[in-house]
Parts: sequence; structure tokens; C-alpha cells
Amino acid sequence: MAALMDTRILLRKIKDLRCLTPKRTRVKAKWAATQAKSPATSLALQYFDATYSLQLGQQWPSARAGLLSERKYGALLNSFSHEAVLAELQAQGCRDFVSHTDQEGRGAASAFSPYAGGESEGRMEEESSVSLKKPDSVDQELSPLRLSPNIKCLVFPRGDITRFKAARPDMSGLLGYYLMDAASVLPCLALDVQEGHSVLDLCAAPGGKTLALLQTHSIRFLCVNDASVSRTLRLKKVLHSYVPKELLTNERLRITSLDGTKWGEIESNTFDRVLVDVPCTTDRHALMEEDNNIFNKSRTSERRKLPQLQMELLLAGIEAACPGGEIVYSTCSLSQLQNQYVVEQAVHLAREKHGIHLQVVNLRPLTHMFRKTFHFAPDLHLGEMVLPHLAANFGPIYMCKLRRLS
Ligand code: SAM
Repeated sequence: MAALMDTRILLRKIKDLRCLTPKRTRVKAKWAATQAKSPATSLALQYFDATYSLQLGQQWPSARAGLLSERKYGALLNSFSHEAVLAELQAQGCRDFVSHTDQEGRGAASAFSPYAGGESEGRMEEESSVSLKKPDSVDQELSPLRLSPNIKCLVFPRGDITRFKAARPDMSGLLGYYLMDAASVLPCLALDVQEGHSVLDLCAAPGGKTLALLQTHSIRFLCVNDASVSRTLRLKKVLHSYVPKELLTNERLRITSLDGTKWGEIESNTFDRVLVDVPCTTDRHALMEEDNNIFNKSRTSERRKLPQLQMELLLAGIEAACPGGEIVYSTCSLSQLQNQYVVEQAVHLAREKHGIHLQVVNLRPLTHMFRKTFHFAPDLHLGEMVLPHLAANFGPIYMCKLRRLS
């Protein structure tokens, strides 16, 4: 009898509680008509487990743990804003990863031989050795390492997951730093912008890499493009929040919202440097967010077409570069299909369709210099890749640099 009373009291309490809960939130997950049967994030994880475990082997479990954990940011210093910001960030325990490469790294990088083993062969972190396989299909070349001294990106030390505060505007309204994945700065460093260069940023929005390129203070003319009109608007807002008005004039900057795949037809053989930072599966986003997730069932066809779109964008970027010009292709995915295969295919088609001969510039000296900040994939045969890692949770970022020979 007492047990029956207890149950009645319990049921009444539950009923009371239900009255306090607004009706529209009282939905049993399994009954909700809108609840996706297979959330896009779960589909992404299944897909990545199947493909990346084969592609990355032993590296996958640790990259997977990194991808499923909170990412680490870097603060790209805005040299157009007030100078005190650097000291403020340093006082919080951050350091600029670009200038604070260890001297051993710099020395080894300059003496580096791309394919030989022996003394110049670097060590990836403490544990795994670097092994380079020479690709059959593309010609590779090692060139001297030049880094723009003006690009500064501050990060907290390895293992420190402190978050940055939001940047504050200075007296002229410009923000002191831009928060982005610190590994996203690497393709901009790899692009090696020199004094007087004309530069094309083919898929530029929301503009983190554009800002990094502008920090070089070397660009004569910058053309930024993004096919999405709404994202181009965002890019414009970013530029106005970080760059003085006098540098955003038509003589120095052009902002367009065109389909980048057509760029070769619009303006070929023109730019000294071209950044092709393509749309991709954005692996971190695909695992963490349902909104705007490319693994959503309704976007299957779009996802399958990504490698073709990426290849067409890279090919257009190659055509847009002048002979002798350099192109950096980048993604934020670990996928071989979207990375190495796209580059191989574009290099092949550039030669066959347009008679353009390209050389792959070996970026191993660059990754060697930054091996204490990022965890790089040890044995890619084409390009370089930052793998997420719990101790240094940046990336994924893939990059491959090409030089036009003709
Ligand atoms: N570079 C940007 C940055 O650092 O902030 C990120 C670029 S995001 C990875 C890829 C961009 O490509 C998206 O903004 C997307 O709108 C754009 N995009 C997609 N298709 C395009 C096309 N056909 N031509 C040009 N841009 C395109």
C-alpha cells in the first residue's frame, strides 16, 4: 500500500514538472518528426573512420581524438592596429610561432636535402622519423626558405588550452588580432609573397588568409574573390575591421564575387602568387556541427562533386598565375581524394590541356621549422599536412605549392 502511495506521489510530481516545462520543448527525441535519423556528424565520423583509418593508419586514432576535441586557435596579429597588442598577448603566455622557430630547425631547414636520408633528415616531434618518397608523376624542387617577417601569429604553448579573449578595437577602430586556426597561416607563409607582387586569393571568404597575406606589407595589387555573395560581404566587413581605409582603394585591392573556376578565362598569365583555398569537407566542422554540414543527406551530391570543383579551381588558379608564378593549394580536410589526387589531376590537366608545365615546390623545410608547434603528417608523397593532435590541436590543413615553369 505504501509503495502504491509513493508511486502516485512520484507520478504527480512528474506531472507538475511537465506543467512547468513549456509544451514545445516536451518532445521525446525518438518521436520528433524533425529529428534526423542519421545526424550528419555521425555520418561524417563513420565516413572518416572508414577512409582515414586506411589512409593514415596509426596516425588516425590520435588525429581522431584531436578532431573530436576543442580546437586550438592562434591570434594573427594585426600590424595595422596599435603596437601594444603583441606585448599584451605575450604577457598572457603566448608566443609568435612564426618567429620563434628553434635555431636548430632553421639550420636543418636550410641544409635540407629533399629525398636523401642521413644527417639532414628531420625528426617529427620526438618519436617518428621523416620518410620522403619521390612521387613518380610530378617534378619536385627544393627552394630556399623565405618567410615574411611581418606575419605574426601568437599561440599558447603545447598542451595549454587557454582561450583567447575577443580582440578589442584601437583608437582608430581597428581590431588588434584575428582568431583563426594557427595552421591556416602556413599556406600564406608557403606562398612566399615578395615586394611588389600581385596576388590572387581565389576563394577568400571570410578572409583570415587574406588578412595574413596583407600583413606582409609587400603586395602591390591584391585581388580577392569568393563565389558566395553573402560570404564576400562578410569578407568586406573583416577587411574594414582590420585594414586602414587608405589601403582598401581600387588601385591596391579588387573584391569580386565570381565563380573561381572561370578565372583562367577571365584573367590568365597574370598573378605572381595565387592562393587556392578551396571549399572542402571541413572535417572539424563536419564532426562537430549539424548546421551547414556537408555530410547532411541533402548535400550528398554536392559532397561527391567536391574533388571535381576543387580540381577546376586549382586549374583556374594555375592559369591565372604568370609563368614563374607560384600557386598554393590548400584545404582543411585530411582527405587524400581532396588533397593529393586533386593536385595530381590538376598538374596533369594543366600540361595536357593548356601546355602549362609545373614543378612541385618541396615544403619540408617549412614544416621542419614549425615541427614543435604543429603535428605534421610524416610521409605524404605530395604536399604537407597538419594533423590534429591533443597536445597541439590545430588543423587539419593540407597545402601543396606549385611553380609555373611555362
Ligand atoms: N580562404 C578563406 C579564409 O581563409 O577565410 C576560406 C575559404 S573556404 C575554405 C572556401 C570558400 O570557397 C568559401 O567561402 C566558398 O564560398 C568559396 N567557393 C566555393 N565555390 C567557389 C567557386 N566556384 N569559386 C570561388 N569561390 C568558391
